[in-house]
Amino acid sequence: MREPREIFASKGLRCTKQRVEVYRALVGCRCHPTAEQLHTMVQDALPEVSLATVYNTLEMLHEAGLCQRITSVPGGARYDADMDDHMHVVTEDGRLIDVPHSLTREIAESIPAEVLAKVERTTGVRIEGLTVQFSAAGGTTSRRVARHDGV
Ligand SMILES: [Zn+2]
Repeated sequence: MREPREIFASKGLRCTKQRVEVYRALVGCRCHPTAEQLHTMVQDALPEVSLATVYNTLEMLHEAGLCQRITSVPGGARYDADMDDHMHVVTEDGRLIDVPHSLTREIAESIPAEVLAKVERTTGVRIEGLTVQFSAAGGTTSRRVARHDGV
């Protein structure tokens, strides 16, 4: 990982200990945490930090394009420092599992151009991106799959 100081400077953001610790914690996990979970994760490094500060820091990181905010899941916004295009699977118990980037690309590319053109004609707007979120059924597949959520 590039140094947070360098990353923040490239975005014109002031580099504070709180921002660095929140960003490091987010980059260091793949579990798509809530602000509350991140607040717990940074307690050792920032025992005095409030939940509001963690939340505001996450919003600032999101606005600066340093993390995604995923709001289409129950239980509040989730945050993800992986800014490369990738889809998620939401499990019944609320976990978000990353769909690998290559598979995300394969899924997006599998949508026929004529279908996208139809969407544009129907809505009257030009389509630039696609967001897909899968909902998992209960249980797991018979094949053991690598877990990407880091939990
Ligand atoms: Zn993700």
